Amino acid sequence: MGKIYIVDVTNRDGVQTAKLGLSKLEKTMINIYLNEMGVFQSEFGFPTTKHESNYLQANLELTETGVLQPIRLGGWIRATAEDVETSFKLVPKIKHLNLSVSTSDQMIQGKFQGRKTKDDIVQMMVDAVDAARSHRAESIGVNAEDASRTDLDFLIKFASAAKSHGADRFRYCDTLGYDDPFTIYETVKALAKNVAMPIEIHCHGDLGMAVATSIAGAKGSIDGGQDAYINTTVNGIGERAGNADLVATVLATPKSKGFTKKYQLGKPIDLSKSWKIANFASYAFGVPIPINQPGVGANAFAHASGIHADGVLKDPQNYELYDYAELGRGEAVTVETGREICSGEYGGISGFRHLMKKIEEKIGGRTEEELGDMVEISFANAEEAEKILELVRYANVCAQKPLVEDELLFIAKYPDIARKLLTLTPLT
Ligand SMILES: [Zn+2]
Repeated sequence: MGKIYIVDVTNRDGVQTAKLGLSKLEKTMINIYLNEMGVFQSEFGFPTTKHESNYLQANLELTETGVLQPIRLGGWIRATAEDVETSFKLVPKIKHLNLSVSTSDQMIQGKFQGRKTKDDIVQMMVDAVDAARSHRAESIGVNAEDASRTDLDFLIKFASAAKSHGADRFRYCDTLGYDDPFTIYETVKALAKNVAMPIEIHCHGDLGMAVATSIAGAKGSIDGGQDAYINTTVNGIGERAGNADLVATVLATPKSKGFTKKYQLGKPIDLSKSWKIANFASYAFGVPIPINQPGVGANAFAHASGIHADGVLKDPQNYELYDYAELGRGEAVTVETGREICSGEYGGISGFRHLMKKIEEKIGGRTEEELGDMVEISFANAEEAEKILELVRYANVCAQKPLVEDELLFIAKYPDIARKLLTLTPLT
């Protein structure tokens, strides 16, 4: 029986969204939180984009030192041999790649304007797969952009060619959110049966169905005899109306009526990190979490009307499908209402020391598990504190808002990695 794996694409689809973005440190924090949750893979960025190079290499270093383990970090590029070559030139240690090309008649005509036939598209893709294989990529995914508007026979031909050249997964992209749960189920099942390779489902919410189509597609892949991979983003942030929300998608797999026993995650996800990652992403993107967001919205466990309040007080299961504590919520949140010292790009040493001392006091009360990788920080001497403060200033230049505690701790603990994340060197 096939299993479901989560591939989060916040650091790719999420950050390419109009009007939104993350600093390289914020992207790194997302990778760390995804790893803590147990997410299988983070599509962590764009290996051919020069300003990503230091960030990508720094995160691969965190993989080597065990900080970002066991999560896989995968890069996204166009499916051309040239992009593969550029990726390995700019980010030599990249191990996992997703190669993307449009497959629908609409896009082949509309984007290439008659310069490419369908056969040219297949050839370009297999050349890219061959190039990635020759660089010893550990895993290769092939993405069919606009797959939901592509005829099935061509998708089977395309995916079969990818497989025969050594691709590991086929990504079915419902790029425009055109599928519904019924259509995607049938199409993905047919693909899984005919191509016999794991299918990755990438869905958008233009018709408000991204989570529903994602799990229906996953069911199709499993019923077709293959593992399924689902693309998610934190808080559903992604192009236009967004992608399948990470927390809602993970909740749907163990908790929805038809999935309870048969269609399960291949790798357990720790939902108790949901509250933390959703709130960090909301702060970092500057996008509030909708009040009715599944699991992490302010109203997700709120009851006012007489019948509901009475029912939930007698037994929460009367009106709640799952418990708030499972999502890592329930603790009181402290909000400063008086004097507040924040980090900033023009900050000085006494404000910084005050901030770090406050964090250390707080850490004292946290369990080792809650702390994860963030252990207590104390500075050896004034020089070291000044060095960290300088990095904090640069991080503030990138973020343009006060850093959160985990970011300050990250910089203090991994100053050399932080320096790489904060280094942008154009015109060289
Ligand atoms: Zn997308």
